Amino acid sequence: VGDATSHVFKTETQKLLHIVANSLYSEKEVFVRELVSNAADALEKLRYMRMSGATSDAAGDAPLEIRLFVDPEAKTFTIQDTGVGMTEQELNDHLGTIARSGSKSFIERLEESGNKNADAREKIIGQFGVGFYSSFMVGDRVRVYTRSAQPDAKGYCWSSDGTGAYTIAEAEHVDVGTKIVVELRDQCLEFADRAKIEGIVFKYSNFVGFPIYLNGKKINTVEALWTMASGDKSSISDEQHTEFYRFVASTWDRPRFRLHYKTDAPLSINSLLYVPGNHAEQFGMERMDPGVSLYSRKVLIQSKSAALLPGWLRFVKGVIDSEDIPLNLSREMLQDSALIKRLRDVMTQRICKWLEEEARRNPEKYNLFARDFGVFLKEGVCTDASHKDAIGKLLRFESSALEKGKVTSFKEYIARMPESQAAIYYLCVPNREYGDESPYSERFKQQNIEILYLYDSVDEFVMHNLGQVADKPLVSIDSQEALKALTTEQPDAADVKAGQLTDDQADTLATWMLGQLGTTLSTVKPSKRLVSHPAIVVDPESPTLRRMMQMVSSSNK
Ligand code: ADP
Ligand code: MG
Repeated sequence: VGDATSHVFKTETQKLLHIVANSLYSEKEVFVRELVSNAADALEKLRYMRMSGATSDAAGDAPLEIRLFVDPEAKTFTIQDTGVGMTEQELNDHLGTIARSGSKSFIERLEESGNKNADAREKIIGQFGVGFYSSFMVGDRVRVYTRSAQPDAKGYCWSSDGTGAYTIAEAEHVDVGTKIVVELRDQCLEFADRAKIEGIVFKYSNFVGFPIYLNGKKINTVEALWTMASGDKSSISDEQHTEFYRFVASTWDRPRFRLHYKTDAPLSINSLLYVPGNHAEQFGMERMDPGVSLYSRKVLIQSKSAALLPGWLRFVKGVIDSEDIPLNLSREMLQDSALIKRLRDVMTQRICKWLEEEARRNPEKYNLFARDFGVFLKEGVCTDASHKDAIGKLLRFESSALEKGKVTSFKEYIARMPESQAAIYYLCVPNREYGDESPYSERFKQQNIEILYLYDSVDEFVMHNLGQVADKPLVSIDSQEALKALTTEQPDAADVKAGQLTDDQADTLATWMLGQLGTTLSTVKPSKRLVSHPAIVVDPESPTLRRMMQMVSSSNK
């Protein structure tokens, strides 16, 4: 080992390390998975480089594999891979700073949760994982020996006790790839135990596409879960699915739904997809990265590919393997590839159908999904024009025909519609009470016309984008268009209150009102539409006025 240069960790990294090292995190064993998955990533990268011929490869044709060694006497846990390795620059970039996306807000959230709330911290750590740094949960010193697969790369040793600083020194006799030696803390010696490590690795051995050896003995069966014959689908246990999901999604929750979809036409597709239990955006974190990786014949083409599914489906996790994708398709080309567009379209349709099936299978469970992930569906309606109708079927809303808290689909709404009704009616309101008591809904309810209540500020925009559902236009009941729905008959004589204005008197009043409010209103018309309210504002087209009124009414509260 040559002269060492010292470096301090970037601030966020220091914070994260501090949190990790002092964490009571009960499942310390996650560090094994994190290191194994980094090794697998490094091997995937090297395999891809070899296949696409993108770079010459100093590693020659060394087998792609992961070797673990545990030594109870030396109190070490070691993991070695024959992957891409790291240059000095990469060591600084990747192990001196937090490379993971979203990690900044992750730390902010951890800080927010404060020191008192250990439970919340554990949850957040558990939710997102902490990658390489998790090795400091069990180790009080970690050394990384690495040599990049790039030609003429030198070997280096990175070392740190996980507090403020790390050193990097040139090192002799380092093989291409990476070897990480974790010096275990005294209270973590269980991770020098072979049986213990074998048990941990076994949990997700099926998903690591490379052989894993433990003290020289091969301990996994290399089989990509998604390529198991469809007849064998049921041979994948729930537990395996959960572990696989956790592996691909780098998370620790359980998936809500899963889809194992295999087809040969129009493209050959073998996919295993999951809808997560939680999503980071619901905790106020930044926009999530895509969650589905593209494979071809079990070779990773692009991890968490942004080209593979439309942005609104970023909450879906898993793997899509298509033999039709040529291995040498460069990653830069993916976005523009006609084949990928085709794949994206087929998969998007299939995912919409899948969610519809889930809704049919278990409506209660689905409605919880629609509540927690509805924001993505709505984004889809507004951004994915070619699938908006399919996505529209997945939306759920409260309705004047149902009790509070129950939701309906458009389809169910349409099934309840009398034949004479031409449109689907809705009203954007802050909550159910506003909906039920709104002067706009009064006559509709009296005439037994169902109203969907929309509570999200984006809903107006969503309806606008959808335009119609099953040929039924979507009409806001505070628009002039909605008046057509109401019967034009005069109210029954019995309804006419004593002292009602004559038509002439009503016109005079209208003219007077317009004179008073002429700068904010374009017309004032007498109407038979209202039952117990004296006047309402009808919006000819723009939702702006309504928003203003909402703001006014909420600021008056
Ligand atoms: P993530 O895997 O989510 O990027 P990690 O903290 O686990 O975050 O790893 C940080 C980075 O360090 C990786 O993205 C990778 O560039 C690099 N790295 C970690 N382990 C290895 C390894 N065994 N071989 C090559 N690079 C690695
Ligand atoms: Mg990682």
